[in-house]
Amino acid sequence: MSIDKNLTWQRILIIDAGDVDVTQPLSADICIVGSGAAGISLALKLADSGLAVLLLEAGGLKAEPETQTLYSGSVTNTLLHSPPDTYRQRRFGGTTTIWGGRCMPFDEIDFEKREYIPHSDWPISLEDLEPYYPEANRLCEAGEYAYTMDSAFNTPRPPMIEGFESENFSTHTLERFSCPTDFGMRYIHKLRSARNIQLVLHANVINIQAGANGKNITGLTISTRDGKRHQILARTYVLATGGLETARLLLSNNDVHKNGLGNDHDVVGRYYMCHIAGTIGTLHINRPLTSLWHGYDISDDGVYCRRRIALRPGTQRNQQIGNFVARLHHPRITLPEHKNAILSLLYLAKPFIPYEYAKRLHGDDRASFGTWLKHVRNVCAGPFDAAGFAWHMLRDRKFADRKFPSIIIKPKAPIFSLDFHAEQQPNINSRITLGEEKDIFGVARINVDWRYTHGDVDTVSRSIALLAEDMKNTKIGRLEYNPESVEYEMTRYGAYGGHHIGTARMGTDRHTSVVNSHCRLHDIENLYVASSAVFPTSSQANPTLTIVALSLRLAEHLKNTAA
Ligand SMILES: Cc1cc2nc3c(=O)[nH]c(=O)nc-3n(C[C@H](O)[C@H](O)[C@H](O)COP(=O)(O)OP(=O)(O)OC[C@H]3O[C@@H](n4cnc5c(N)ncnc54)[C@H](O)[C@@H]3O)c2cc1C
Repeated sequence: MSIDKNLTWQRILIIDAGDVDVTQPLSADICIVGSGAAGISLALKLADSGLAVLLLEAGGLKAEPETQTLYSGSVTNTLLHSPPDTYRQRRFGGTTTIWGGRCMPFDEIDFEKREYIPHSDWPISLEDLEPYYPEANRLCEAGEYAYTMDSAFNTPRPPMIEGFESENFSTHTLERFSCPTDFGMRYIHKLRSARNIQLVLHANVINIQAGANGKNITGLTISTRDGKRHQILARTYVLATGGLETARLLLSNNDVHKNGLGNDHDVVGRYYMCHIAGTIGTLHINRPLTSLWHGYDISDDGVYCRRRIALRPGTQRNQQIGNFVARLHHPRITLPEHKNAILSLLYLAKPFIPYEYAKRLHGDDRASFGTWLKHVRNVCAGPFDAAGFAWHMLRDRKFADRKFPSIIIKPKAPIFSLDFHAEQQPNINSRITLGEEKDIFGVARINVDWRYTHGDVDTVSRSIALLAEDMKNTKIGRLEYNPESVEYEMTRYGAYGGHHIGTARMGTDRHTSVVNSHCRLHDIENLYVASSAVFPTSSQANPTLTIVALSLRLAEHLKNTAA
């Protein structure tokens, strides 16, 4: 298929759907829907491939409240999940316009079939993704692809906790931080300079047409918010619309496939996972502060890195639990008893912090006037600490190109809380469905019914119990916590926002999966998904590096099969 001449392709590489001649369909070899981390990585990898690529984006170059409300929907249990128009962005660059930038690859064990975790098998292994991770790391601007202390640092760094040796936990693996890179703004020039890519803004895909035999997609309809519609024709289509919207698009296109695209076996939208995260306990370490390092290291290539306490794969297998990491953390911000001026300053600054970040800093705790006053007192008692912190945040976060990733408080004594991030197991009853309400295009909005299982509670409670035991046995310290409170703490703020996983899972069995190992819908030969929607399991790792690696792998597959 040749590039559409009517668009004077070489001259207008970024257009607005509102400016397109409605009498002519837009056509291309490959049509990518969505310009987030997945869509942009895929398009960049296809740059100058000789294939004409259309990149359709619902939003514009900036945030637009009217466009964002197209993401609204309902939630079954609002204590367990945030509204679906939060924690994702419908605009060029997608959710990378607000992400935190924490990067790490999945672990080998995440891809294994673990008999003790139902539905845990991936049809690919870490080995299949390894060739793409370094390039994904470059696109995320997380520096060198080096995720252990030994590989990332030429000169040895002091240990995280001196003397802590455990058969169950390691402290030598890293998370690395992206700038955090806004994929839209960072790569717009590269997209512009690629002669085969056309980006169409304000192009909301509202309909996906399946051929009469249901085996292929024959076209898409896009619409601007004011109702201007166009037809899109391509040989191959890729949905790169994020974990929630991908399920919505598949489910809502049910003219030919009565249950929705790829949903003959009622799998689309099911197995919805986020991560299980929270803060728990008080860890008293019997070591001077000088023998501990809980903050960031700057790698030899200038990237912020942080060590974690990671549950070893052998222990996961022995204990039959999921993947788990923990970090040494500051006391809960809401409790003024911490008497920390910086934490209290953060508490008071809540109205100025975006919802997605304020929620986990503060939750929905409704504080009394008395509590508020105690926080004011803390700030007044430590004005220099508070001012120093405010300056550090302005200099190293707000105005820095590579932003200081998060709040690190130097404690006055070796006392911390534990901040954990754990794998959520696939659960057939945790799901995205279409709700009753429709958006302005007549497309049904989603309902989110996120659920966790006993297996998830087990992963967190047994990991924490093991860590407490290891701290005690090695005489490193004492972790005080209430084992009865684990389930409450891991759901205190509900599902970990922003990680939308598993709603169009990858697999070999069409009864339990939606796409094959190349991310193509099992029974539709020209429709693919690039998103964490395809992950069959969630790992302990944040998803974006793996989303990008999978998108690069998909681009290579599309290039190889295009001939
Ligand atoms: C506050 C926050 C912090 C985060 N921090 C981290 C982190 O530290 N590390 C990490 O790995 N991940 C993090 N994430 C998650 C990360 O942002 C996502 O994993 C990633 O951005 C997903 O990329 P994506 O391309 O799959 O989806 P998205 O970025 O959501 O992109 C989807 C794109 O599709 C477009 N689109 C949707 N529907 C349509 C339609 N019908 N027609 C046309 N276009 C459409 C959207 O406008 C959007 O541009 C965070 C998320 C949030 C909210």
